[in-house]
Amino acid sequence: MSDASDPTSPEDILREVFGYSEFRPGQREVIDAVLAGRDCIALMPTGAGKSLTYQLPARLLNGTVLVISPLISLMKDQVDAVAALGFRVAAINSTLDPDERRERLNGFRAGAYELVFVAPEALDGSLREIVLQCPIALLVVDEAHCISQWGHDFRPSYRRLQGLKLDLDVPVLALTATATRAVARDILRQLGMRKPAGFKGSFFRPNLRIGVRKKGEGDTRREILALVRSHAGTSGIVYCQSRKGVEQMTDFLVKSGVKAVAYHAGLEPDERARNQNAFKRDDVDVVVATVAFGMGIDKSNVRFVIHRDMPKDLESWYQEIGRAGRDGLPSDCVLFYSWADVKLHERFLDRVEDDALRARTHAATVALFNAVERAACRHQVLVAHFDEVIAACGDACDHCTGESVPSRLAGAHERESTSSWRAPREKARAGVDAGTLSADERELFDALRARRRELADKAGVPAYIVFGDKVLLEMVARRPGTLDELLDVPGVGQAKLERYGDEFLKVLGSG
Ligand code: ADP
Ligand code: MG
Ligand code: ZN
Repeated sequence: MSDASDPTSPEDILREVFGYSEFRPGQREVIDAVLAGRDCIALMPTGAGKSLTYQLPARLLNGTVLVISPLISLMKDQVDAVAALGFRVAAINSTLDPDERRERLNGFRAGAYELVFVAPEALDGSLREIVLQCPIALLVVDEAHCISQWGHDFRPSYRRLQGLKLDLDVPVLALTATATRAVARDILRQLGMRKPAGFKGSFFRPNLRIGVRKKGEGDTRREILALVRSHAGTSGIVYCQSRKGVEQMTDFLVKSGVKAVAYHAGLEPDERARNQNAFKRDDVDVVVATVAFGMGIDKSNVRFVIHRDMPKDLESWYQEIGRAGRDGLPSDCVLFYSWADVKLHERFLDRVEDDALRARTHAATVALFNAVERAACRHQVLVAHFDEVIAACGDACDHCTGESVPSRLAGAHERESTSSWRAPREKARAGVDAGTLSADERELFDALRARRRELADKAGVPAYIVFGDKVLLEMVARRPGTLDELLDVPGVGQAKLERYGDEFLKVLGSG
């Protein structure tokens, strides 16, 4: 599959294809296990960089990496992202017309692709037979917790993966951002993994700045509006428990001049897709949503997640705020909660017939309420749920900083600043932060974003697939003047340099 001029070590590929100089924690361990042909399970939080652990081997393995991914909408972004890196890749799903499908399957059989993405539903019937004839080197199960009923996102279609590893007789790599023991054990068992290598990353997300606020102590709607305004021009999610709550909140925000759309399972599929796309493409800033909104979106520059109502348990809270700050930049998470929210969750449980399940679910909601009421570092509380012990964050939660949500809003108002809270720890690491740009830098950043937008529209992909905000901020900080200097910017690899380098240098040169 490779000729002599291809880079051959994982480090080379990391640098030349992905444009990164170092592996993130755990990536190397997982990649080594995969390249050694072992089964492997990686439990790493959202944003940790799990995709790279199969993308990079796809360049090195002799055969195709077959990736099972739960949602077609997610799949398109994943395919676009790896294609932009220069990989030979295809998705095979129900949206293809017959000719296209035949062509891709022929390519798959002939070993033309480094990566192939399929949805678990597709593994019914004929496709499963076809897959067995393809030169597959590795089976990857992304979002592997979907296979477990103990997880927060069980999908019956994942049950179709049972036996697939055995039939294919290839190593399997299971990836998930869930780290509860019951779920991990379930994944190993159901996929039939043998003597797996395992890697568990830290679930501490220091770039998430967490605050909580009891409802009834202030005007929640006004406070949410103030929070949204303090992040003007950036992307955020406001979670509500009910559809009605979503509708009301959306109306209120829109009437207050915020570019917001609604998302819940009661909307027509068309409208839902349109709203999700508008958010993904940065046409609107805010999506107000029920928990139905989440996994289908893989947007790296979500700068805030606000819960208007309390989630159903600690795990859900962690997963929902985890949609913020995937690019590692500072992001805000504010939870509004009350005992009334607990009672409302309990009422939904009336429909559950299994007494034990109902009791357990309710207990988990009460446990979240108690955890939030406790005077303790929010990050400590969250990762303790995943059996992890950390020191108090010190600077990334309201308990540690002593800055409550209202005092913070008042402070933001006084500073007349549109910037958000910042987590100094992450700032030091990233070196750049959209909230601290000078006027000149802001102007250059906006110009780079505008160019990115043009290029993304032309290619028909979301903006972050061209380059993420973090990469643009690095450009602002470093001001590369040549292609070589541009290549040094983390996140700029060969394929993107060739495709977009000149366009961005033009903007940088005139800035
Ligand atoms: P996950 O699937 O674990 O939630 P992703 O694979 O989507 O995370 O990666 C999150 C972000 O981290 C992506 O923008 C990706 O390009 C970036 N990333 C991955 N590995 C590295 C690395 N070694 N150095 C810098 N950025 C990385
Ligand atoms: Mg992922
Ligand atoms: Zn803390």
